[in-house]
Order: sequence, then structure tokens, then C-alpha cells
Amino acid sequence: MKVFALLSPTIRNSSTRRLFSVTPHRDTNIAIVGGGAAGFYTAARLLSKTTDTTIDIFEQLPTPHGLVRYGVAPDHPEVKNCMTKFDQVSSNPRVRYFGNVRVGGTLTLDTLRSMYSGVVLSYGASADRQLGIPGEELVVPARRFVAWYNGLPEAQGLDIDLRRVDRVVIIGHGNVALDCARILLTDPSDLASTDITAQALSALRESNVKHVEMVGRRGPLQVAFTTKELREMTKIPHLRILCDRDLVASECEKWASFVDSSRSLKRMMDLLMSHAGKDGGEKSFTLSFLKSPVEVTERGVRFQVNRLDGPVDQAKAVGTGEYIDTPSGLVLRSVGYATTPIAGAPFDERRRIVPNIAGRVTHNGDVVPGLYAAGWAKRGPVGVIATTMQDAYRTGDAIIMDITNGHLRSGLPRDSVDEGLRESGVLESCVTNEQWKHLEAFEVEAGRRVGKPREKVTSVDRMLDIIGV
Ligand SMILES: Cc1cc2nc3c(=O)[nH]c(=O)nc-3n(C[C@H](O)[C@H](O)[C@H](O)COP(=O)(O)OP(=O)(O)OC[C@H]3O[C@@H](n4cnc5c(N)ncnc54)[C@H](O)[C@@H]3O)c2cc1C
Repeated sequence: MKVFALLSPTIRNSSTRRLFSVTPHRDTNIAIVGGGAAGFYTAARLLSKTTDTTIDIFEQLPTPHGLVRYGVAPDHPEVKNCMTKFDQVSSNPRVRYFGNVRVGGTLTLDTLRSMYSGVVLSYGASADRQLGIPGEELVVPARRFVAWYNGLPEAQGLDIDLRRVDRVVIIGHGNVALDCARILLTDPSDLASTDITAQALSALRESNVKHVEMVGRRGPLQVAFTTKELREMTKIPHLRILCDRDLVASECEKWASFVDSSRSLKRMMDLLMSHAGKDGGEKSFTLSFLKSPVEVTERGVRFQVNRLDGPVDQAKAVGTGEYIDTPSGLVLRSVGYATTPIAGAPFDERRRIVPNIAGRVTHNGDVVPGLYAAGWAKRGPVGVIATTMQDAYRTGDAIIMDITNGHLRSGLPRDSVDEGLRESGVLESCVTNEQWKHLEAFEVEAGRRVGKPREKVTSVDRMLDIIGV
């Protein structure tokens, strides 16, 4: 494996050069960019497998935990239990949390690389894929909708008046699309004891949404959501579930051995067949197959009808030339999140990931010493927290192997790092773990008063005010 030399840590500004030359130190320190699941699980691995490596986590928001806080649905509290593990990590004296610090802004990746033995890029995926069709500007990304009901500060200006919406079309057949459908169709009183924001809860209480149609370009055997999430839809009281049962039945018959070979797929098809078409109340959820959006207008979406081509596990949607217009007051696009480049780091534009070999970042195929990737930034925006954990552990193991083999140089001692961070303007405005815990206690107390696990603070200014930064 060749090692790429040009991107190896370069000491560009005079202050960090001085720090390096006057304070040689033999300890290994790691900077983690992004305080989401991948960052915390990488740190956890390093803590458990090394005795003296120190870790600094840099997170652009004052609050840690990334999509566990701002993505995972409020009615999935059990999924958020991993935050207890993250708390154990950040309370370890070898770990420091620097919230409210965006790497790639005032604090550059070069500065980090000049101070630390290694840097882990675990900054997730904060953009989303587009459809590339006329009228796209009328479409609301599911990523924004999710971020809105979960309290992400930058998503709070979401301009949707649910009082004026009766029908919603969601484009995409994944778990995020199902999360959005479930939140829109669940009785808001059932969400009142979750950590959904007060603003979202009040908008949902006034919502007039009665029908949600979730549309995918391929068939029932190619959906990306899981049986567990579909089952949750079937548990919503009085909700009518609709789909083309004839299509489901004929696809299951046509590809019987494929369906029989996967217990989860079989369960999902059985679930669909047993629930679709049953009587219910005034609200409905429709799963539509074999339709690709071609245009969005103020009135709704125009779809082209597709047929499937090729074997079931690689089936391609092919347009038939037939079109259907579906009226809708709101169109959500849920076709995937996307990772964006961070200044100074390699980026694979085609695959939209930080290029890497088993967690070691590469540039033109060569390993960049001391630079690692973990989580969605490493492998693309797919996979649940358990997958992200395994993946982060593998990155942690790569770092440990490089430490053991002497491939990582010593970093600066903490006081010198602090001097470098101060010179980068980070220290005055960063949020420490103690301050985050103070904010969290504030949120938990506010939540307790209204019967919720927490009432999230949804503005950065307000967060900093509470913390006193
Ligand atoms: C809507 C949704 C619902 C989900 N629900 C579930 C579920 O129910 N169960 C489940 O197991 N999994 C679920 N997942 C998947 C799970 O959230 C991911 O597997 C996991 O969060 C990925 O972790 P990550 O650390 O790679 O990314 P993230 O969680 O996105 O963390 C990345 C962090 O990096 C920070 N960051 C970004 N840029 C910078 C920068 N320049 N400088 C500093 N910090 C930066 C971000 O603010 C963020 O905090 C869901 C995902 C989504 C999108």
C-alpha cells in the first residue's frame, strides 16, 4: 500500500510550527470531526483498546449526537439509548468535547492535522439527493422535514402550513420516508410524550393531513424500508392502508423462491397482504409502486408509470410512456442523504464519500497518513446505528494498528493544543461537555414539566444563552 505524502500533516502557520518545535511529545492524540454516532463509537473503541490515547471531539453544533438527536424519530426513544454510551465516552477524562466548532471554517483541517497524531472524519451526511426534475424547488426534502420536527436549529424556518394540506406525496421507499409518513398520520396526542419539539407538535395538532401516498419507482420486492417500520404503520389506530394487492400477489408468485429465501421479505409481503385494503377511519396511507416523478407543480406530481426489467434482485425501472397526475398539497423527497466535501480533505465526487480503504482515507488511491473516516461520511448515508457502530469500531481498529506499528507520530500535549485552538478562535466560543450537560439538564427539566423526556432548545443563540457562552 503506497502512502500519499503531499497531504501528510503540513505545518502551515507559524504559530503551530512554533508549538511543534518547542514541545515535542510522544503521546498519541486523536481529533474526531463530527460528534455523531460514528465519532462517539470510534472514540469508545480507542478508549477501550488503548490506555493513554487522548481524544478531542469537534462538533459543529453546540449539541452532540448528530442524527441520533436530529434524525431518529421521536417515537423511537429506545433507539436513543445509545446516548448513555456516548455519555460514558465524553465523561472519560481522556476525552474532551468541543461543541459549536465547525471544522473547515475558522478551524481548518490542516490546523487539526498539525496538532494531532490522527484525525477522524466522521461528519456524516448533511445534504440530500435531488430528483433533477422540473418543479424540484416546490419539493421539501424529507431531511429538512425530519430535522424540523426533531428541533435542528437550521431547519426551524420550515415554511409549511399543514393546516392547508390534505394530501401528501412522499417520493421514496425507505425508512426515512416511513418515518415522515408515520409522524404525519399519527394522532399528535400519541406524540405528546415524546421529545418532538413543541413547535412541531402544535403544527401537527392543527394539521389537516388525511392522506399520505409513498411512491417508489420499483415494485414491492425492491422496497428499501424494513418490516419493523412497516409494522408500525399497521399499528396506527384507524389508519387505512392501501396498495395494489394484485401487484404484490403477482410479484410474490412470480419470484416465489426469492421471497421464500428471505424471511424478512416474506414477513413484509404477508404484512402488506394482510393489512392492505382493510377498513379504517378517515386517514389513509397508500404504498404506490412502479412510478417515477417527472414533474412537480403547485397542484401535485406527474408520474411516469414504470415496468420492471431484469432479475428481481437487480430489477430496473423502465418508463412505459404512460403518465399519472397525483394531486398533493405537499411533496416530500426522501431519496437519500448525501455527504458533502469538507475543506482540505479528499472527496470522491462520484460515490459522494470520503474515499478510504477500511477507514484509512485515500487520495488518488494512496493512503493519507493519519487521516481516517468513519460512519456515513466513510461509507455513504446508509445503515442503522448498529451498522455505524461496527463500522466505527473498524476505523478505531485501523487507528490502533497504526499506533501499534508506529505509523502515527506523537501529537502536541493538551496545553499546546489548547494554545493552537485559542489562536484559531475556537476556545472562546466552544461548548464543553460540562456545558452541554447543563443544557441537557435544562431541556430535561423543561420536558419534565410537560411530560416529555426533554423539550429541545431549537435555536443556537438560545442554547448559548442558557449555557452562558
Ligand atoms: C431520519 C433518520 C432516522 C433514522 N432512524 C434510525 C433508527 O430509528 N434506528 C437506527 O438504528 N438508525 C437510524 N438512523 C441511522 C443513524 O442515524 C445513522 O446510522 C447514524 O446517525 C450515522 O452516524 P454518523 O456519525 O455517521 O452521522 P451523524 O449522526 O450525522 O453525525 C455527524 C455529525 O457531524 C457533525 N458535523 C458535520 N459537519 C461538521 C463539521 N464540518 N465540523 C464539525 N462537525 C460536523 C454533524 O453536525 C453531526 O453531529 C436514522 C437516520 C436518519 C437520517
